[in-house]
Amino acid sequence: MNRRGYSTYTQCKCCGTVIECSDCSIPMIWHASVKKLKCHYCNKEMSFPDYCPQCGSDALSTSGVGTQKIEFLIKELYPDARVERIDSDILTRKNAHIELLSKFQKKEIDILVGTQMIAKGLDNPNVTLVGVLSADSGFNIPDFRASERGFQLLTQVAGRAGRGEFKGKVLFQTYNPDYYAFQTAKAQDYEKFFETEIKARQEFDYPPFSQIVRLILSSQNNFRAEKSAMEIALRLSTMTEKFGFTEYLETLGPTPCVIEKLNGYYRFQILIKNKLSQKGHDFISKFLSKITLPKDIKLAIDVDPLDIL
Ligand SMILES: [Zn+2]
Ligand SMILES: [Zn+2]
Repeated sequence: MNRRGYSTYTQCKCCGTVIECSDCSIPMIWHASVKKLKCHYCNKEMSFPDYCPQCGSDALSTSGVGTQKIEFLIKELYPDARVERIDSDILTRKNAHIELLSKFQKKEIDILVGTQMIAKGLDNPNVTLVGVLSADSGFNIPDFRASERGFQLLTQVAGRAGRGEFKGKVLFQTYNPDYYAFQTAKAQDYEKFFETEIKARQEFDYPPFSQIVRLILSSQNNFRAEKSAMEIALRLSTMTEKFGFTEYLETLGPTPCVIEKLNGYYRFQILIKNKLSQKGHDFISKFLSKITLPKDIKLAIDVDPLDIL
C-alpha cells in the first residue's frame, strides 16, 4: 500500500471540503498513532479540527486507506499473526527498518505491511503471498512516466514471492485488470510492456523521442508567480517562432503544478518538449540565461525531470 498514515484525507461530509496543509495544498493525512493530521510534504502537524473551516459543520471524517489502517485491519483479521509495518514513518526510530527486515528473515514476523519500501531490497525465500492494495493509485497520477514506474514497481513486488522452495502467489487489487501494465506485469513480460509504452511515447513526443525541460516558477504571491510564468512562456514561444523551431520545441503551459503550493510557495510550470537534441538544448540554455527575475520569484530548471508533480 503506497500510502503511509492511517487514512488518506479528512473530509467534511456536509460541504465536501478536504482539510489541506495551508502551506502545500495537499490533503493532511491522519496518523492514528500520534493522533495528529500531518502534511507529508512539509511535516506540518495539526490536531483533528472540531469543525469544518468552510461551513462550520462537525461532520468531519477520515476516508481512504493508509498503511496504518491496513496494519490495524490485518491485526483484527488475524489476531494470532505477528504483524509489523515498514514505511518511512518508522524510519524515525534508528535502524528500525533493518531490524524489522531481519526479524522478517528470521521468520519472527508473519505478515509485513508497508509501502514500496518493502519491495525494494527484500529477498526472502519464505515469502509465499504478496498483495498489492489499490494498485491503480500508482498509475492515476498526471505524469507521463506513471505507467513505466507502476510497471516497474509491480514486477519488482511480484518478484518477491516464491523465490525459495515454496510456490508464491501475487495479487494485484485493481479496477482495471485488463490494463496493459497489469497484464504484462502479471506475465513478467517486459518486452510486451515496452512495445505498448513506446508507441504511446512516440505518439505524444515524450522521451525518448524528446527531451523534457521543466521550468517551475514559484513565489509566495500566487498572482506574481503566474504572471512571470506567463511572460516566460510567451517570450519562449516568440523566440521559437522567430528561429523557425516551433515544430521542434513545443511549449506547454504555464499551468499550476499538480502540487500547486509547496512550503508556502505557489508553483507554476512550463514544460518544453525538445525534439532538436543538442541544438534545442543550447537554444533553451541561451534563452534561460537571459532571463532576469524579480527577487520574490524563483525559477527552477529541471532537465529530464524524474516527476512532474
Ligand atoms: Zn464543511
Ligand atoms: Zn505542508
